[in-house]
Amino acid sequence: MVPRKRINEIVKDYDPEDITIATLCSHTSLQLFNGAKKEGFKTLGLAVNQKTRFYDAFPLSKPDEFMRFDSYDDFVDRASELTDRNVIIIPHGSFVEYMGTKRFEAMEVPTFGNRSVLRWEEDRDIQRSWLESAGIQMPKRIADAKDIKEPVLVKYNGAKGGRGFFIAKDYMEFKMGIDLSQESYTIQEYVLGTRYYLHYFYSPIRKSGYRVGEGALELLSMDRRDESNIDELYKLGSTEELKKHGMFPSLVVTGNIPIVIRESLLSQVLEMGENVIQKSYELFGGLIGPFCLETIVTDKLEFKVFEISCRIVAGTNPYISGSPYSDMIQPGMSTGQRIAKEIKDARDMNMLDYVLS
Ligand code: ATP
Repeated sequence: MVPRKRINEIVKDYDPEDITIATLCSHTSLQLFNGAKKEGFKTLGLAVNQKTRFYDAFPLSKPDEFMRFDSYDDFVDRASELTDRNVIIIPHGSFVEYMGTKRFEAMEVPTFGNRSVLRWEEDRDIQRSWLESAGIQMPKRIADAKDIKEPVLVKYNGAKGGRGFFIAKDYMEFKMGIDLSQESYTIQEYVLGTRYYLHYFYSPIRKSGYRVGEGALELLSMDRRDESNIDELYKLGSTEELKKHGMFPSLVVTGNIPIVIRESLLSQVLEMGENVIQKSYELFGGLIGPFCLETIVTDKLEFKVFEISCRIVAGTNPYISGSPYSDMIQPGMSTGQRIAKEIKDARDMNMLDYVLS
C-alpha cells in the first residue's frame, strides 16, 4: 500500500487552484463529473477500453478531457502523467473491481477516501467482524450446509452483483444448487423483508449537522436494486412449480429504483451509520466519504445489514439533481457533487490530507 505520507508529499506539490478531478469512465462517472464541474473543478475521464462517445449525449457531465490507457498496468505505469496534472482520483465500485486491489493500493496518485478500508471490505469474514463489533445486526451464518433448516442464500465469494447466488431451503436443495468449481462460498440466513440501500457520507472536516467523531455524518439518499429475475418471478406462479420448468431465482442487478424509508426509522439509520464510522476509526483510521449499508427491514422493523460498500455506489445515480434527503442539506446535491465539495472545502481549509490517501 502506498503510504499516506507519500500521498501527502505529492499533494503538497499540487497547485491548489488547479486541481483536476478524474475517474474511470463507467459506473457513476456521469454524476462525479457533473458534480465536480458544479464545484468548479477541471475534469478528466480515464478510459481503459471504455467507450466514451456516450458523454456527447450528456454535455453537463462530459469531462473536459480524456486520457486513454491500453491496460490497468499501463495506467499504474503512467501515474506521473496524472500527478503532473494535479489529479485527484475518485474511486468508484467498478474502478476498484477492474483495477484489482493490489494495483489500486499501489497507485501513486492521490485518491479520495481512505484506501485502508479495502482490506476490511473485501473479505466477508473481516467485514462481518467490523460490522458486528459496531453493534450492527447481520443475517446469521450457517457454518455447515447440513444444518440448513430455514431458507438460506448461498453466496460465492468474489462473485459480483449477486451472480450465481442461489436460495436453498434444506440440505438437499443446497446439494442440487452448489457449484463446486467455485472457490469458496458462505451460507447465510435468507432474511425476509424489504431492502433499503442507504447512502451515507462521512466528512471528517465538517463541524456542523449530525456530529460523529471529529466530523459529521450525512444521509444523502437511498435506493432499492432491481434484480433479475427474482423481482419478476412471482408473476409466473410458485417457485416450486417453476423449478419443474428449470427456472430458478437469480439476483443479478440490472438497475436502481429511488426510494424513501418510513420516517420513524431514520434515527436507527443514522445510528447505524454512526456506529460503523466510530468503529472504523478504532480499526483502521476511519472510513471517509461515501458508503452504503445494504439492509433488509423485517416486519418487526429491525434492520439486518448484509453488506457494506465503502465508496460511491451506483444506487446514487437516480439522484444527480438531488434526493429527498440531500435536498434538506443542500438543494440539488448529488453524492458526486458532495465529494467534489468535500475536496474543495478541504483544499480551502488546508486539510486535503484529511480526505485523501
Ligand atoms: P454487490 O457487491 O454488487 O453489492 P454482492 O455480489 O456482494 O453484490 P450481495 O450484495 O451480498 O451480493 O447480495 C446480492 C443480493 O442478494 C442483494 O442485493 C439482495 O437482494 C440479496 N441478499 C443478499 N443477502 C441476503 C440475505 N441475507 N437475505 C435475503 N436476501 C439477500
